[in-house]
Amino acid sequence: MKIGDFPQEIRPYVMPEPRGEMAYSCLGCTREFDIDELLYTCPECGGVLLLRDRELERARELDGKKWRQIFDYRKMINNRALKGIFRYYEFIAPVIPLEDIVYLGEGHTPLVEANNRLEDMVGLRFFFKNDGLNPSASFKDRGMACALSYVNHLARKKGLNNLLAICASTGDTSASAALYCAYLDDFLKAAVLLPHGKVTPHQLSQPLGSGARVLEIPGVFDDCMKVVESLAENYHVALLNSKNSWRILGQESFSFEIAQELDYEVGDKVVVLPIGNAGNITAVMSGFLKLRGAGIIEDLPKVVGVQSEHADPVYRYYMEEDSTRRRFVPVSVRPSVAQAAMIGNPVSMPRVISVVDEYNQVAGEKRVFVVQVEEQEIMDWMIIANRNGNIACTQGGESLAGFVKAVEKGYAGPDEIGVLDSTAHMLKFINFQEMYFQDSFDPQFNVRPRGELRNAPVLVRPDRIRTYPGPGKPLGKKDMDQFVREMSREIAGMLGLEKK
Ligand SMILES: *Cc1c(COP(=O)(O)O)cnc(C)c1O
Ligand SMILES: [Zn+2]
Repeated sequence: MKIGDFPQEIRPYVMPEPRGEMAYSCLGCTREFDIDELLYTCPECGGVLLLRDRELERARELDGKKWRQIFDYRKMINNRALKGIFRYYEFIAPVIPLEDIVYLGEGHTPLVEANNRLEDMVGLRFFFKNDGLNPSASFKDRGMACALSYVNHLARKKGLNNLLAICASTGDTSASAALYCAYLDDFLKAAVLLPHGKVTPHQLSQPLGSGARVLEIPGVFDDCMKVVESLAENYHVALLNSKNSWRILGQESFSFEIAQELDYEVGDKVVVLPIGNAGNITAVMSGFLKLRGAGIIEDLPKVVGVQSEHADPVYRYYMEEDSTRRRFVPVSVRPSVAQAAMIGNPVSMPRVISVVDEYNQVAGEKRVFVVQVEEQEIMDWMIIANRNGNIACTQGGESLAGFVKAVEKGYAGPDEIGVLDSTAHMLKFINFQEMYFQDSFDPQFNVRPRGELRNAPVLVRPDRIRTYPGPGKPLGKKDMDQFVREMSREIAGMLGLEKK
């Protein structure tokens, strides 16, 4: 739809203009810093940063209803910059001019309701939000679109050239970073650090295909992260890990989309997501807080974070009910099928602690829960989900296993509806499905397949067929007739088909 065709009262708001005033805000010493330089940690105290829009209060100039209309009408505008996460421009990074926004098709992933059979098994209604349908097949594209739009903007404004962007990754961050950097190739190159042997073959092939420098490091993600931090501290590189708070902003779009797609009624929803580095749960909570602050939603949904027992530092932290006695202790991770969340020392832990407090306070009651699940539960639920028409990755399975746990524990009640983050596409983590079907998990995973959930291809090659076709070797008429007739008979027998 063209601007001129929008109703008069919406027209002035459809195309946003930069008018935010953003600053890095340190969670340690509360100092604020200019966004003209890329910062990852506080230059004064080394603390973790968040980005704050000092002008966000201005959103109150319009009421919640007006904002809802603006977002709903914006669905119809054919402007590339507003097609993705920046539909919610004023609430993401309203300092980036539209012409600098990078859009590769991220965001607006579908909410798919579970079928009756699956909902009966779980006991509550729920949706999967399929974030695996982003361009690099994980939610990481939301944050990367924001971070790289800002880098793009800075580069143009300051005439920067020959930038190197770097990240450590459990696989998906690097796939996403490499994709977006490849798009901006003329001034920006990507280098990614991966824990050797700890990402799936698909995740490894993604940054290779995008032309990034791929460096494999012995150890686990937490070790890679230390190296990348040291590089960012001592050399000129743009850090694209979730220490980069621009990414958190972009990931808030996940909450905005949920709100919009559910007609802004989220008070009875339970949003469930896996926790790794804890950037995503930070973003999701902070996104809902922003919507509530602007009167766009009335009530905050519950948020349930899920961790595997093989990588559960956030769960352990919140096990202590008395908040004055909580103490964060990093854990040493064990192999997990939710490999993208296999992190023992989450970079965003200080953010989580601060946002959870704010969230519960604003809600006036405890609305954030963290549950722990077993590796076996993750795999079983992933496979059950996918046998019911979903495309959940192992982390999506973790969300579902966590939702089941939340129902058991009463964190989610009969009148509530789940919204589960399937954070990546199932195909990225398909090797775990293969291990399940073949019962070939390393004992450290502690996963055994349930017989009724296993599946394997069957080669149909009965001996009575004289000759089989092959590439470049088509059968003659007689052999072909026999091949088709006998093969059909064989398959009809296997499938128990009845003759017409
Ligand atoms: C990164 C990632 C996670 C973990 O998210 P955090 O923001 O690190 O907590 C979960 N699932 C997938 C597929 C991921 O790529
Ligand atoms: Zn500080």
